[in-house]
Amino acid sequence: AKSRHSDLLDDLNPAQREAVTHAGSPLLVVAGAGSGKTRVLTRRIAYLLAERDVHPGQIMAITFTNKAAAEMRERVSDLVGRRANAMWVSTFHSMCVRILRREAKTLEMSSSFSIYDSDDTKRLITLVARDLDIDPKKYAARTLAVHISNLKNELIDPETAVADAGNDLERRVAEVYVEYQRRLNQANAFDFDDLIMRTVELLQRYPDVAEYYRRRFRHVLVDEYQDTNHAQYTLVRELVGTEANEAGIEPAELCVVGDADQSIYAFRGATIRNIEEFERDFPNARTVLLEQNYRSTQTILNAANAVIARNPNRRAKRLWTDSGDGEKIVGYVADNEHDEAAFVAGEIDALADKGEADYSDVAVFYRTNNQSRVFEEIFIRLGLPYKVVGGVRFYERREVRDMLAYLRVLANPEDTVSLRRILNVPKRGIGDRAEAVIATYAERERISFAQALRGAVNGEVPLLNPRSAKAITGFVELMDELGEVVESGAEVADILEAVLERTGYRTELEESEDPQDASRVENLTELVTVAREFTEFTTEVAGPDGELPEIDTADPGVPEPGSLPAFLERVSLVADADSVPSPDGGDDSGEGHDAGVVTLMTVHTAKGLEYPVVFGTGWEDGIFPHMRALGDPTELAEERRLAYVAITRARKRLYVSRSMVRSAWGQPQMNPASRFLDELPADLVDWRRLAPSSSSGGFGSSGGSPRAATTWGSRGGGSSPSRSASTSPFGKGWKDTVALKLDVGDRVSHDKYGLGTVVACDGAGPRATATIDFGAAGKVRLMLIGSVPMVKL
Ligand code: ATP
Ligand code: MG
Repeated sequence: AKSRHSDLLDDLNPAQREAVTHAGSPLLVVAGAGSGKTRVLTRRIAYLLAERDVHPGQIMAITFTNKAAAEMRERVSDLVGRRANAMWVSTFHSMCVRILRREAKTLEMSSSFSIYDSDDTKRLITLVARDLDIDPKKYAARTLAVHISNLKNELIDPETAVADAGNDLERRVAEVYVEYQRRLNQANAFDFDDLIMRTVELLQRYPDVAEYYRRRFRHVLVDEYQDTNHAQYTLVRELVGTEANEAGIEPAELCVVGDADQSIYAFRGATIRNIEEFERDFPNARTVLLEQNYRSTQTILNAANAVIARNPNRRAKRLWTDSGDGEKIVGYVADNEHDEAAFVAGEIDALADKGEADYSDVAVFYRTNNQSRVFEEIFIRLGLPYKVVGGVRFYERREVRDMLAYLRVLANPEDTVSLRRILNVPKRGIGDRAEAVIATYAERERISFAQALRGAVNGEVPLLNPRSAKAITGFVELMDELGEVVESGAEVADILEAVLERTGYRTELEESEDPQDASRVENLTELVTVAREFTEFTTEVAGPDGELPEIDTADPGVPEPGSLPAFLERVSLVADADSVPSPDGGDDSGEGHDAGVVTLMTVHTAKGLEYPVVFGTGWEDGIFPHMRALGDPTELAEERRLAYVAITRARKRLYVSRSMVRSAWGQPQMNPASRFLDELPADLVDWRRLAPSSSSGGFGSSGGSPRAATTWGSRGGGSSPSRSASTSPFGKGWKDTVALKLDVGDRVSHDKYGLGTVVACDGAGPRATATIDFGAAGKVRLMLIGSVPMVKL
């Protein structure tokens, strides 16, 4: 009989085995996609537990998304059982939240702190900039936010930023940074970048704190190391230590795995320097290279290798597989994005019918989140089961954010951004002027906004009219009442119900005539469900049987399972970046487990995952590669790495498609073929369709589409489109023939109203109108000239 030891090493190749068993010095595993890096990391953890008598509580494993963390925990649980629960397997952000909750006092924060996401951050920066009289036309809040974020990723504190500022922009940024940071502190809040930066500060400034964690975590493992930024790198270094400290504690064992070709977060400050200079940063480090790919067919690997080979300044890698050539890549050129979605849906159905793939084997990738809508529409219409990965959408909805703001204020009354958000929501007669009076009073008295509100109740705030004072009193009483519900130990879902009821928020929506408000009610019901399932899940994990996480239960770094802070923490972290809000409480592990559901996601989210069938959609210059990368070699290289990531997710079948016309920011727009399509070796691709069916010949074909067509201003600014019909590089001819010549009975998709059917056409030329039945959204009559955010299906 085999020992457990050999079981763990059996199905590994020699290089992988070396990485799993290596002990002592820091270890770097660098290798291309699908070569088993994550497998090595997971297996190494199992090996530590089984063969090296390491306690689970001594292990800290860091992944890039919550999804990956859940998957890793599950993989390790499969190998070692419930003991896995005591490990810290988390993202950088979650890990820092845990540490900060425990150590908040040291940083003069309270452990009930709020976590501000990018939207909160922008709101606060807007407030700060306004108070500092900064011209928003010259320095937009978004720009300031990006600069401040960059500073934080480089671990530059406000004082240093002020001292180093060399030009007007930098001075403005530094000035805002100082005040922004002050207000974050005052609000007892951290933004996302703070989570890392302040944890580093904690470890660097307080040696006893650093020592506690150094004693505790004897093994630190990091997946996707190529995507760490400077702050994260420093954090790892501080956690592990580079030499024995004064108390004689040796550095922890460090194991990092990564692939420089998959670095796709440079926009967040990630730097492959961390991989390239690992050996210098950690003297006596050992490096292991893996070369065999176990994921994909040779065809897919060849395609990936050909694309990534175009990037300059990279170390060439040999990546091979013994799994054979497999199917050719299938290419498709669509008329428009709806046609593209229809092709994808049809193909998925065909594969399922022929028994060649289950829905759960299939992933559809796109470059940016907003591209999911078209797929969702068609999948719904065809009854194709799907899920969209990337929770950002749901948690960005206004009503959801409003409710979360209530919960956050209940957990942390000092959270000024949330408090001001809900002050007059639903409307209760506290106007902008009253809010401004309170804010000024708070500022002058150097007290928090919440305290100032209480001041208003006691009549201490001058210039406040009696009507506002009364409204504020009502609000404060309401919050106190809700606070009692929280104090009583109610479940999060019940707290939420109480907020919905007693604020009148739900009633207001229910009584509204606006059809959108009906779906808002649904979203809130969904939020209550999320909260219910959250409680159920947490109770189960902490359940009575089996091995309880010994260290963790006593750890003040962890909010009490099922509590309001725990819920808010979870929500903040799933709403972050690319992670997944899984209603089942975090066990959403990508493939295999969602029987019968197609997965839709951005390429960024797909990092680290694999699917038998992958659809890469929207391969157009201006979409993928992204518009802002077109004139910038550095950004283009990053987009190409993203293409490499996309291709290498596929195990057996890869589809690539592009669309001739796509509506973007409310305008149909023609995009040339992605240059990445041209970089795929021609003999690997079977073009199912090269030219769009409705083309009158002016659209070119896949290979030689006009690149010059991508020169109209930037679309990346998040503002409304600036391109008018007359400046279209295609003239208005194509619009008339393709998009806007409608007949009764035609199906259309409108950006705002959704799918509809033309029921009447009137007028001609510039006066042409169509009356369109959009179902639930009603009948609408639209002009067909100018910027119509609509395409014919
Ligand atoms: P990525 O760069 O995309 O993150 P990776 O290097 O982390 O990829 P893994 O996800 O660990 O690769 O492995 C890819 C696939 O190959 C997985 O399905 C894994 O189970 C399988 N695999 C890895 N090593 C072996 C092996 N020695 N024998 C059989 N299968 C393996
Ligand atoms: Mg991996």
